[in-house]
Amino acid sequence: MIQTSLHVRKNDLMHASNVLLVCPKCNKGVRVGKKIIKDKKARVCKKCNEVLDK
Ligand SMILES: [Zn+2]
Repeated sequence: MIQTSLHVRKNDLMHASNVLLVCPKCNKGVRVGKKIIKDKKARVCKKCNEVLDK
């Protein structure tokens, strides 16, 4: 059980360093999703859908 939780935590950290961005609306690190806006890839906050690439 301890091994499992450590493994999950490690994965979370690696994941976080890749995709966690601070959303100005949520005012904290959030997971980002991708969206195509006007033929451009944009990153959006998965919580509030705020576009993080301007
Ligand atoms: Zn947000």
